[in-house]
Parts: sequence; structure tokens; C-alpha cells
Amino acid sequence: MMTGEQYVESMRKMNMQIYMFGKKIENPVDDPILRPSLNSVKATYDLAQDPEYEDLMTVKSSLTGEKINRFLHIHQSREDLVNKVKMQRMLGQQTAACFQRCVGMDAFNAVFSTTFEVDQKYGTKYHENFVNYAKYCQEHDYTVDGAMTDPKGDRGLAPHQQEDPDMYLRIVERRTDGIVVRGAKAHQTGAVNSQEMIVMPTISMGPEDKDYAVAFAVPTDAEGIIMIIGRQSCDTRKLEGTELDVGNSEFGGVEALVVFDDVFVPNDRIFLAGETEFAGMLVERFAGYHRQSYGGCKVGVGDVLIGASALAADYNGCSRASHIKDKLIEMIHLNETLYCCGIACSAEGGPTASGNYMIDLLLANVCKQNVTRFPYEIARLAEDIAGGIVVTAPSEADYRDATTGPYVEKYLKGAKGVSVENRLRILRLIENLCLGTAAVGYRTESLHGAGSPQAQRIMISRQGNLSVKKELAKKIARIKD
Ligand code: SF4
Ligand code: FE
Repeated sequence: MMTGEQYVESMRKMNMQIYMFGKKIENPVDDPILRPSLNSVKATYDLAQDPEYEDLMTVKSSLTGEKINRFLHIHQSREDLVNKVKMQRMLGQQTAACFQRCVGMDAFNAVFSTTFEVDQKYGTKYHENFVNYAKYCQEHDYTVDGAMTDPKGDRGLAPHQQEDPDMYLRIVERRTDGIVVRGAKAHQTGAVNSQEMIVMPTISMGPEDKDYAVAFAVPTDAEGIIMIIGRQSCDTRKLEGTELDVGNSEFGGVEALVVFDDVFVPNDRIFLAGETEFAGMLVERFAGYHRQSYGGCKVGVGDVLIGASALAADYNGCSRASHIKDKLIEMIHLNETLYCCGIACSAEGGPTASGNYMIDLLLANVCKQNVTRFPYEIARLAEDIAGGIVVTAPSEADYRDATTGPYVEKYLKGAKGVSVENRLRILRLIENLCLGTAAVGYRTESLHGAGSPQAQRIMISRQGNLSVKKELAKKIARIKD
């Protein structure tokens, strides 16, 4: 396994095509806007070396028998599924940001079981391809991006019906040695901090979408891949040299629009190529695993926000007010409810035909549906407790200035003995989580990440087994048809 430093050095050797603010970023590793997101991934390496977190962060590989980072693991039991969620909560607590590496883990497990079933039906070699690839990633301790979301163009049309055929990523050429693909994947969490990328389809497909039913792996610096960084609220504060105003200066998350401009994929890295009826299975499984993930990572970030809110109340001198206590109780209640869902869908998981373990799909979708709501209420309560000052506090520059500083110091005093600087720090952290760069990961990603709310409602209606429930009611009511 790599140390955090070795990971950073391995990222330095990558030759990715990354663009931000209209410029090519030659050195993404040291870029002040991107670096905090790299630090979050680095934490997944650092903590794996820490004896305190070893049990959560590492595991014995089912493929090689070697000790590996859990982010590269093929889950072997319900306990593995539960430990995954616990690890994600812990990392959310340590980074208060999206640490990005989960998408690869979720892609690993979805592709592992789906390729097995495709091979059973068609006699293809996709599972063998994937197992070899997974071993390669485990041996190098890589970070792997899991790319699913296509731009989708006109949402009312199937992939093959789009005016521009590239709105869903597709095979444009089939060669004897591999395929050439074109298209894009949107909102790619951590793509710029990954050495490898697994690409999957984004929706169920019909027979006419054959060229779109494609899954494969490529290095993130493969020829033809271009990444355009998504900007975040308050991102350029990181350029101002003020650690205080950033709120969380060490960690962050990052997304990119990843363009595949005729990228070659060799045969041994292909995991699906035209077997349209398996596109839906792959999507459902990846989404299910990632909806479980949110019952861990968002809960960990929620822990930090609840702690920050309690500190803001202390610093304001109002922590004994009964309504403040009650708001904090509500925040804890909501946050732990999400955790219950993450643990429940893991504990109720079971083996797939390939032997790896999958979450309970209904419960994972219920988990994510709650995540589309509760962080918003938790953020609302945090802003309520913090007070309006969370969005009106002067900058660090004004706080340090010889003329304005003494006024800030005098009038932003809170409870006796609390430094104004500490008060500003906690307010900026709350701002960061609710409205700033981390709000991408804590709020809007809670809504749309791992699928927007309606995607879960479709799965809930499919998995909810209404007919069984009707029979139960008929039996109790003594209805005989
Ligand atoms: Fe992991 Fe959460 Fe980020 Fe998804 S949103 S990659 S589950 S930390
Ligand atoms: Fe996500």
C-alpha cells in the first residue's frame, strides 16, 4: 500500500489534461484551488497507515490474499458492507469533505458481480478482464474514479434518438485490439485525483442502444481524455491567502466534466460492449452501493456540522437555552437516522451470483432518499443556531487591519473568554459546509449525488412489493376475491 506522500508523488507523475478558469492546469497537485481535494484522497492513504484506523481502512484482498486499502476491496460479507459505512463516516468526520475514493469502490463491486452474470449468459470474458484489472489496481493501491453520469441531452429521448449521438458515451469504432469511445461523463467526483477510471452506462438500454451499453477502464491520463473542473461557491477564496475565510482550508472535494474525445480502450479493459440488457443491472448495482455510501460519508460530515453548531452556541453564550438544546437534538436525530439506513442496508445485504456481497437495494434507496432531505434540515438548523453573522462576518483582512480590526474585535465579542478569532473560525466552517465549497458535497451532492431523488423513488416503487402488502391487508380484513 502507498503512504499519503507516495500517493501525492504518483499523482505528480500523471499527465492529465485539466482545464480550469479558461487555462490548462499544468500542476494540479500544487494548485491552490485543487490541492484541498487531493488532500482528502490523501487522507484515505494516511489513515490506512495509522494503527488506530487500520481495521476500518484495510482488509485482506479476496483476489490476492494481500493486505489492501478497503477502497479497493470486493466485499465478502455483511460485515464488510457495515465496515465500509463505518469507514466512510470516520473519513467524513476527519475531512468534513468528499474524499472521492468511494465511487471506485462502488464501481468495483457493481462491475464484479455484473460481469460475472454477463459471462454466464454470453460466454464473454468480461469477469476475467475485471478481476485482472482489480488485482492491478490493488497491487498499485490506485484511486479509481467511477464514471456513470452522461450529459443526457434531451431527457425525453433514448441514447440512440439524440440529435447529437455523443450525448451518451458510445463506441464509435470496433477494432481487433479494442474499441474507440466518444462522449462525456459529467460531475466526475475525484476524477482529477484518480490514477484510473471505470466507465459505466448511466441508464437501462434497449436493443437499439447497443453502442451505448459499454463499460471499461482507462488511466485518467489516456490520450483523448480532457477534464474541465466544475467551479464551486467561494472557490477563489483559496487564492486569497486567508486560511480563516476558507473555513476548511485543508480538505475539499472536486468534480469535473470529463470528455472522451475518441479514447482507445484495449480488449482486456472492456467489461461490457453491446450486451444492452445488462446496462440496467450495472446502473442499479452501482447506484445501490453509492446510495449506501451516503449513509456513511454525509453522516460523518454532519457530525462536524453538528459539533460546529454546538460550538457556535457556546461562543454566543446561548448553549443553555432550551430551544438550542432541542435543535441540536434534532440535528443528531436526523444524522443518526441516516446512519441507521446506511447500516441497515448493509446488515440486510446478501451474496450475488459472483460471490461478492451486495446491499439490500430497497433499504439503500430509502437511505439515499433520506439523504436528499435531512442534510438540508441539518444545515437549516446549523444556520439558525449560528445566527445571521454566519453570512455577514467581516473578512480576515478586516479583522487583522489596524483601523478596522479593533472594531471587529470589540463588536464581534460573544461569550466571556471566547476569542473573536475562534468565533470567526467556527462561523466560517459552518458557512463552508452550508454555503461554500463543501456545500457541493454536503448539500447539493446529498440531493443529486448517487442519483437525484426521483431515481430512488422509481427504485422504491419497484422494490417496495406493494402486491404482498395488499395480500397482508386482505388477509387481516378477511377479503376473499
Ligand atoms: Fe464518497 Fe460521499 Fe464523496 Fe460519494 S460523496 S465519493 S460516498 S465521500
Ligand atoms: Fe458522490
